Amino acid sequence: MFGKILIANRGEIALRIQRACRELGIATVAVHSTADSEAMHVRLADESVCIGPPAAKDSYLNIPAILSAASITGAEAIHPGYGFLSENARFAEMVEDHGMTFIGPSSSHISMMGDKIAAKEAMRTLGVPLVPGSDGAVPDLQTAEQVAGKIGYPVLIKAAAGGGGRGMKVARQAADLEEAFQTARAEARAAFGNDAVYIEKYLDRPRHIELQVLADNHGDVVHFGERDCSLQRRHQKLLEEAGSPAISPEERDRLGETATAALRKLGYRNAGTLEFLYQDGQFAFIEMNTRLQVEHPVTEMVCGIDLVREQIRLASGAHLGYGQRDITFTGHAIECRITAEDPRTFSPTPGRVTAYHAPGGLGVRVDSALYAGYFVPPYYDSMVAKLIVHAPTRQDAINRLRRALDEFAVVGIQTTIPLHQRIVDDPQFQSGEYTIHWLENFVAGL
Ligand code: ADP
Repeated sequence: MFGKILIANRGEIALRIQRACRELGIATVAVHSTADSEAMHVRLADESVCIGPPAAKDSYLNIPAILSAASITGAEAIHPGYGFLSENARFAEMVEDHGMTFIGPSSSHISMMGDKIAAKEAMRTLGVPLVPGSDGAVPDLQTAEQVAGKIGYPVLIKAAAGGGGRGMKVARQAADLEEAFQTARAEARAAFGNDAVYIEKYLDRPRHIELQVLADNHGDVVHFGERDCSLQRRHQKLLEEAGSPAISPEERDRLGETATAALRKLGYRNAGTLEFLYQDGQFAFIEMNTRLQVEHPVTEMVCGIDLVREQIRLASGAHLGYGQRDITFTGHAIECRITAEDPRTFSPTPGRVTAYHAPGGLGVRVDSALYAGYFVPPYYDSMVAKLIVHAPTRQDAINRLRRALDEFAVVGIQTTIPLHQRIVDDPQFQSGEYTIHWLENFVAGL
């Protein structure tokens, strides 16, 4: 096991990883920008190193500074968290080249899955069902017209290097195709420096269902069931549940068998998430994330497992030590992503938190780096807290969530807590019958 780990991240996820390290008896090194010197992840770490000015490209994405911080402090491994360098194959490779362990999969699997066209091709070969679409990249408008004509409108143009919902455009009919194709390409070029795009059938009422997996370095792979992340705005998740209100235990088992068999053949290691769209009883793969996800706590609550602890253990070479039959699901969990944003316009609201009170009590978990007096900087992602509840049934979890949201006080800045309160009180949400398009309409109607 490692003696010291550097955590190449900030905010709640840096704290989350520190907590796992501390329980394993591992010392932690925090890195931070000049804007974050008062941040909680710095205050609670055993050691900290300033790695640059506020802009992420000069600090949290500054590979030489992070590698130097790790070697100066004698860290044996680096945990990237999510976002920032977590899906940067070159960074993973450089960490290993410097004689340290990257806590995550191999750099070749990161680059395979980072190219969504290659990811779909790999999954197709391994027998995982896909959303119908183009065979690989679509180089020009003429090919796009042929593909769209064949699969039928509406279609979605997606960036091969896509992430965070960017570089994705819908063409509802043939007349929309040219504009959607050109805009998706331009957006992809600007955001990812890569304008390769592909086409998928645009599903009109799917749910987003994803499967959490863990694999050791010795060929064992298990899954921890599904998360339902259908509540999205602009293709970004806002609230997640485990299990899905729409999936039966038999469907979960079947999906789990297909996915783990595929990853076993691939020789995948560490944590990963396979994302699917689910419509009319069918699952179709869209992408795989080769890292810890923001929404991992809902899985932890229903499975009673610490996924970060497992990531660290597996990266150190340990065997899983349990099989699929040992993994059981208890109760229901819901997570709300709370952001420092105006709950109506979604414009960011950085500023000083003057008072702070987090909810508590049975089955309530708050993952956050906020405290009274903290200044939310304008430079980074606006998520400031995750509220997670766990209860025996979905209805109990909803009641607990409502109660916990009522207790949650973040004073001095606006947050999206009021939006979550309205979602929880909505009969359609309560019925569990919603698709990926529901929240967008709900927000528009507020
Ligand atoms: P990103 O990597 O940018 O998050 P994804 O491929 O994971 O992109 O898709 C993000 C979201 O976009 C999905 O969760 C879903 O809501 C929507 N989406 C993606 N593909 C389709 C599709 N073929 N039809 C309808 N919605 C889709």
